[in-house]
Amino acid sequence: MRLRNIPGSREVIAENKWCIQEPEQQKGHWHEAFGNDHPIYIEIGMGKGQFLTTLAKQNPNINYVGIEKYSSVLLRGLQKMEEEPLENVRFIRMDAETICDVFDKDEVSKIYLNFSDPWPKDRHAKRRLTSRQFFARYDKILKKDGVVEFKTDNVDLFDFSLEEIKEANWNLDAFTRDLHHDSAMNEGNVMTEYEERFSSMGNPIHKLIASR
Ligand code: SAM
Repeated sequence: MRLRNIPGSREVIAENKWCIQEPEQQKGHWHEAFGNDHPIYIEIGMGKGQFLTTLAKQNPNINYVGIEKYSSVLLRGLQKMEEEPLENVRFIRMDAETICDVFDKDEVSKIYLNFSDPWPKDRHAKRRLTSRQFFARYDKILKKDGVVEFKTDNVDLFDFSLEEIKEANWNLDAFTRDLHHDSAMNEGNVMTEYEERFSSMGNPIHKLIASR
């Protein structure tokens, strides 16, 4: 999702209290940032933040960090927080390639990847958020019993992700190629903006859960 560049979005983000300005300085100190010991769940590529903020409202005893590469997209999430502040949410504007500079070993309990960019060209495979290169990064920050949950409507990206989980020596705990008709996996499902859009067009939603 790349919205039109919104003039001033970087400045708004720089002054916003929910947006962590120097996230590298929080490495190893995230519980202090939230002022509690609750588990930390992150979403990489959160877009406008509907999924993350809905979960945060449902689960006040979990801390959520939303990560988004583009200021113009993140801005929408920040605007929602101005309207309805949530103490257990923070945002970071960054490229997730450097995620290991921001979270320490075992600091994260769950990683959500929703409708991640497909990067269809083979030479860009390592940029996909479910590539073996990204699983190696998740391995460094995720607790031993932590999980990665991934949803997409993109069959090629999903097939690629299943292969990469094998290559990375992770376990595939569960998967479905039609989430909305899989009552067990769909229980408690929170829809993302892209999920609403693509499922309303009739695209089946694929989901997998992976762990080490
Ligand atoms: N997760 C949202 C949803 O399901 O509605 C947005 C999906 S959108 C297709 C993917 C989002 O991931 C975009 O907003 C994009 O800017 C962000 N993104 C892609 N690669 C990223 C990266 N390496 N680091 C941080 N954000 C990234």
